[in-house]
Amino acid sequence: MEFATFADRVAAIDAESADLEIVAHVRELLEDAGDDLEIVARFVQGRVFPAWQSRTLDIGPNTCYEAIARAAGTNVSADDVEERLAEVGEIGEVAAGYDFGGQQGLGAFTAGGASETLTVREGFETLSELAAAEGAGSHDTKVDLLFGLFNRCESVEARYLARLVLSEMRIGVGEGAVRDAISEAFDVPGERVERALQVSNDYGQVARVARDDGLEGLDAMDLEVGRPVQAMLAQAGTVTDALEEWDEAAVEWKYDGARVQLHHDPNGTDAAETRVFSRNMEDVTDALPEVVEFAEETLAEPAILDGEVVAVDDDGAPLPFQEVLKRFRRKHDVAKAREDVEVRPVFFDCLHAGGDDLLAESLTTRHERLEALLADDPNQEPAAVDGLSLCWHTDDPETIELIDNDALEAGHEGIMLKDPDSTYSPGRRGKHWRKRKPDVETLDCIVTGAEWGEGRRATFLGTFELAVRAGDELETVGKVATGITDETLEELTDLLEPHITAENGQEVDVAPETVFEVGYEEIQTSPTYSSGYALRFPRFQGVRHDKDPSDADSLERLERLRA
Ligand code: ATP
Repeated sequence: MEFATFADRVAAIDAESADLEIVAHVRELLEDAGDDLEIVARFVQGRVFPAWQSRTLDIGPNTCYEAIARAAGTNVSADDVEERLAEVGEIGEVAAGYDFGGQQGLGAFTAGGASETLTVREGFETLSELAAAEGAGSHDTKVDLLFGLFNRCESVEARYLARLVLSEMRIGVGEGAVRDAISEAFDVPGERVERALQVSNDYGQVARVARDDGLEGLDAMDLEVGRPVQAMLAQAGTVTDALEEWDEAAVEWKYDGARVQLHHDPNGTDAAETRVFSRNMEDVTDALPEVVEFAEETLAEPAILDGEVVAVDDDGAPLPFQEVLKRFRRKHDVAKAREDVEVRPVFFDCLHAGGDDLLAESLTTRHERLEALLADDPNQEPAAVDGLSLCWHTDDPETIELIDNDALEAGHEGIMLKDPDSTYSPGRRGKHWRKRKPDVETLDCIVTGAEWGEGRRATFLGTFELAVRAGDELETVGKVATGITDETLEELTDLLEPHITAENGQEVDVAPETVFEVGYEEIQTSPTYSSGYALRFPRFQGVRHDKDPSDADSLERLERLRA
């Protein structure tokens, strides 16, 4: 297909706002793309390479401005291009405004025996060459190659070439539109196209297979070890919502690290045996040798695992997220960085194991496969399995609260709630995975009592009794022990100890002088506390040093919030 034809069709799509019409245009474009179908299916979405490839053009805007300036003629500079951009606001418009063609050197920078008319394929091949340029002199090579392309463009071609290379296509063609267009053009059901897209992450390949091999071909497309898929994502949600919707919830710790997808094939060639990808499908293998070593030591069969890498201290305790970032995309001095910050993988899902694709299996089944892959032997206790994120199934809010406490105490972010029956939907942010959002609201409560901790925390006050104002009285609404680090416990003990008025075993009464801000998920009626209410999942947010007890929240407000 000539690039001019492609650009004209894209211009028509750009001018269209109705979704159905856009899909109709894309359908026609795909039907007419011939041998260039794969390229066209990607270009129309503003992509040059398949989403799963780490390959990028790796050019900044200035490289593009230089190439445009050179193609525009001797009296135009990159600064002029930038100035015009500031006026017009969009690079396509700027490129379309110049009169390109026939500048010096035509032919020298175009792939072998290029014809006058630019084709989509030539565009793709030149951009592939550009993506491969690296090292000293690569900037000039990139400018030369881009110049060679712009130099052969008419106005409308230049408009969309500029947008394509700067990833600013913005013609309203989303993934859904291409999926529907493939479905309509080649007469295959949309949901089967969708599945093929999920496993392959390549709109080009899916379009070609749909056209050439039909439904059978699409259904035969599977995950491939080494080719990343999009990560399943989570929505925020409460324990109450989760338990209302599902019979029981799968509860996992939420690790504060960076998402990784591990691909391992023990039978692969050395270089390809283990690959680690980020949430955006970037190849981060070289930055994370610990994950590669883990895979080599642990996995005896081909596998694709989903998890998190967490930075840990010498005792294996988790470190804050910022520490992982020091390691995550690192390209240089990895060995040195590893000495400073160690990372460990924890896996919570399994997409492929030993030749079986598991996307369509339930979370419960996938987790069982994960455990079997990682365990040293079938009888090993899950808690002893290295690299395995534990998963508890429960319908009991109290149990969930305990798991949440344990997670926080172990230094993690909190918990994830998942539907045990749900399949793995790459790229979806659905209801089946919920990151627990604890705080519907916060209340400012007065501390009226506390309990000494146990073991390591015996010298700290650990659990704090909370009350709200009710006229001249104080009425209790619950106890908070969650969301507090050891360091804060020490500070709180120093703050409250002078105000202890009575001690009874581990329990103490505290003069009502300190105000805590406390998050919670729900307010329930309860016979346990004098207010007649209890905060569900209370979590410490901080001390309100700026507030007196008289500024704390009232029972009236609590009742209003509950209503
Ligand atoms: P978002 O996903 O909303 O863009 P984010 O990247 O900041 O935001 P969160 O939304 O806070 O992440 O939480 C989801 C992330 O939590 C996952 O992408 C994953 O990296 C991480 N995570 C930690 N533990 C788990 C777990 N057990 N199951 C799933 N995800 C987990």
